Amino acid sequence: MRCRNCESKAQIYLRSFNLPLCKNHFIQRYIDTVKKTISKFKMFSENDKILVAVSGGKDSMALWYLLLKLGYKVTALYINLGIGNEKGESGYSNMSEKVVREFAKRMGADLIIENVLEKYGAPAPLLDRKRTPCSACGIAKRHIFNSIAMQRGYDVVATGHNLDDEVTALLGNILRWDESYLKSQYPVLHAEDGFAKKVKPLIFLTEKENLAFCMFEGIPFHHDECPFAQGATNITLKRIWAQIEDFMPGTKYRFFREFLKFKEKYFKLEEKKIQGKCKVCNQPTLAGDLCTFHRMIEKVKNKIITGEHFQQSY
Ligand code: SF4
Ligand code: ZN
Repeated sequence: MRCRNCESKAQIYLRSFNLPLCKNHFIQRYIDTVKKTISKFKMFSENDKILVAVSGGKDSMALWYLLLKLGYKVTALYINLGIGNEKGESGYSNMSEKVVREFAKRMGADLIIENVLEKYGAPAPLLDRKRTPCSACGIAKRHIFNSIAMQRGYDVVATGHNLDDEVTALLGNILRWDESYLKSQYPVLHAEDGFAKKVKPLIFLTEKENLAFCMFEGIPFHHDECPFAQGATNITLKRIWAQIEDFMPGTKYRFFREFLKFKEKYFKLEEKKIQGKCKVCNQPTLAGDLCTFHRMIEKVKNKIITGEHFQQSY
């Protein structure tokens, strides 16, 4: 098969668009898609200080590399979530941290590292046993990204969410008719009092495209999947999406694009209903005098005091 744009042999076939491309034309298309997304949604400009959230996985590593390559002012933030740290160097979070550290060194890039286990006494997914691991972990990650961005004066937090993540979340939100999430799902969330602006520049690219970009550009990434991901509902929804896409190629992309059009027409992005400031971290609260994260941390502290502590069970 030949590349759609030149005579070279195609190295990737994007089935959703019936598009065979050689390496160079794939990379060009990938970069153009990210540039268009950044500009269409006014995500940031050359003068903005960007904090890019990196996990060591292919999506965030591709984003970090590309923003550096495009000359943006980028600092990466890696949060060591403490997952598998009892295995030492070969544990999931420690291995991801190694990939991220080495890449920062190779690129001469700025990197901030935060360690949840050292700071809060438990791995992020086990901070609150009443929540699912991904829910507790998500609260911790969002809190840390936001607090670092606010404390250190970053203009925007960029994450590597891809099209698969978005359509999976969208399907989950529709299955639950979760109005508040449907209202807030968008490629950009503007800054509000105490909340940093958040953007998703890879939102129109699939996992497969991010993987191919990393392979073609020689970007290292941690190949393992988080041990908690297996049981997560999202994995099931991703499988359902793979079947839909297999049967009707291009559906993912159209579904998300039409959702955005629908949303722009009928929904206004709602401002968060801020109630006050957290007495521990001073971040905005949506209820009471503690933010969601510190409410969770208070529970952890109480459990430690009463001797009811965590056993890692994975
Ligand atoms: Fe955290 Fe869940 Fe992601 Fe693992 S899969 S890093 S527990 S959000
Ligand atoms: Zn707080």
